[in-house]
Amino acid sequence: MMKKKPQRMCVSCRTRRDKKDLLRIVSDQEGNVMYDPTGKASGRGAYLCRNKECIMTELKARRLAKGLKTGIEKEDLEKLASEILELCGKDGGDAE
Ligand SMILES: [Zn+2]
Repeated sequence: MMKKKPQRMCVSCRTRRDKKDLLRIVSDQEGNVMYDPTGKASGRGAYLCRNKECIMTELKARRLAKGLKTGIEKEDLEKLASEILELCGKDGGDAE
């Protein structure tokens, strides 16, 4: 029997990928949105591909905020975006 890897959908491009290939963004009870490197933080989560296009598209379109049902500020989104992009860069950027 095949073991199925957990899959999640990128909220930006709607591609299904292995959970480990996606970035998890989580919003906590106070509505703070942050990157969740463990994938285990409690709160409402959304997933994004590890590529610049998905991250930028999503954060600019503010669909992420909608998905997380939080009124995140533009400045916070931009901060989060640069944080994530920096992390992606460190990973070598060859996830795709
Ligand atoms: Zn994507």
